[in-house]
Amino acid sequence: MASSEPQPKPAKPHVLLIPYPAQGHVNPFLKLAKALHARGFHVTFVHTEYNHGRLLRARGAAAFDAGDEGFRFETIPDGLPLSDLDATQDIWALCEATRRTGPAAVRGLVERLNRAGDAPPVSCVVADGAMGYVVHVAKEMGLPAYLFFTPSGCGFLAYLNFDQLVKRGYVPLKDESCFTNGYLDTPVDWIAGMLPGARLRDLPTFIRTTDPDDTMLTINIKQCELDSPAADGILLNTFDDLERRALGAIRARLPNTFTVGPLGPEVAPPSYLPSLTSSLWRGDDRCVAWLDGHAEAAGSVVYVNFGSITVVTGEQMDEFAWGLAAAGSPFLWVVRPDMVRDGGGWALPEGFAEAVAGRGLTVGWCDQEAVLEHPATGGFLSHCGWNSTLESLRAGVPLLCWPFFSEQVTNCRYACEEWGVGLEMPREAGREEVEAAVRELMGAEGRGAAARRKAAEWKEKARAAVAPGGSSCANLERFVQEMALAKC
Ligand code: UDP
Repeated sequence: MASSEPQPKPAKPHVLLIPYPAQGHVNPFLKLAKALHARGFHVTFVHTEYNHGRLLRARGAAAFDAGDEGFRFETIPDGLPLSDLDATQDIWALCEATRRTGPAAVRGLVERLNRAGDAPPVSCVVADGAMGYVVHVAKEMGLPAYLFFTPSGCGFLAYLNFDQLVKRGYVPLKDESCFTNGYLDTPVDWIAGMLPGARLRDLPTFIRTTDPDDTMLTINIKQCELDSPAADGILLNTFDDLERRALGAIRARLPNTFTVGPLGPEVAPPSYLPSLTSSLWRGDDRCVAWLDGHAEAAGSVVYVNFGSITVVTGEQMDEFAWGLAAAGSPFLWVVRPDMVRDGGGWALPEGFAEAVAGRGLTVGWCDQEAVLEHPATGGFLSHCGWNSTLESLRAGVPLLCWPFFSEQVTNCRYACEEWGVGLEMPREAGREEVEAAVRELMGAEGRGAAARRKAAEWKEKARAAVAPGGSSCANLERFVQEMALAKC
């Protein structure tokens, strides 16, 4: 006979999300977290104590208040001594410190959450690909664990081949002369899935070392050789149409790879849990209104932003300033307060404001996705961080590429050669080169116009991937089902 007793409701799956503590990682992780919450997961999102404090200062307590029992924030230490310096600027120190202290911190957190008993027990973990050690902690605790790599597929493919580059003797570099003697132009066509014509210089800059024990080289090899295969699956913020060849090679090694990008408004609409944001800096509210003022001339504004980590010299900033002034297009230029190396005192050059007379707005930080989506924005001078590249593709905005480090050089090469949406600016760009490159990007004809047409095509494909029936949309649902079933 069926019992008339009310049955206890089945516990929700409880996912612990642990991003690497840098802006380009917490942003896509928060979008994924919202997407999982919207699909019935109880979510615990883990910041470092340091970033929690920064968010609190930038956004206030609302940034942690979902107004919903099922979405909570927790913190773990980053392992670095307290300092006034931005911890995310020294990625080498941060990587080492999180690897040292992370495993015990994550284990302690899971035990504490489960002991507290005010939420379903943690049933799965999604950790940053840069924190692959979490997979082993989760496995020891009997939990399924997935790794979310926030770089591009092509960047991830390059990292997957770091071990081969060492085994075949390409890396570490023999000596310092290799940086300048053409050695970096050596072809690496043997890397299955890489774009034809790829060279050593197109691979993440962590290979540019003469030290066989280099921290980033060894960490990346370990992540790809030991951590990734131990994970139950891999998530990538990209879409199949964009990186088919690279993804084929990745899936040949890691079959359970889910491409779920671009993680944008289709996946996590800004109206969903709107108070929860991940921007570690406070955006300048004037940007959209300023762009509105240029909206009559659609696509007329060049947007300049080098992300959250890039640092440049004061001299280079002067060259950018005068190049932008001479190029003639209106511009929105984001100059992070800590962007100039050793240059707390850098200021816009004398006479610059008069030279651009109302044609430019310079701010410390902005809501980048809102800027890229604005109809006035017509080109993006970017460092080619993966989020920036993808956000630009999604908005249909062509790129002027000036990569700084890591797999940004790979993204640049793909943007220019494979996707046709980018023009590359020389590394040592003086004001004349900056002016010429911006003019070309914004031009009504020529290479800039061709890149603009390509960007419009990718915009459609990117949106289709995350729309119902699209590859990323289907992969996200498959991932959700797999994780929900994996409840412990
Ligand atoms: N971003 C932003 N406002 C800014 C600069 C950056 O909102 O003024 C966001 C941007 O939208 C992206 C992230 O910060 O999501 C930067 O990530 P990316 O991978 O492009 O570069 P990184 O900062 O990791 O070098």
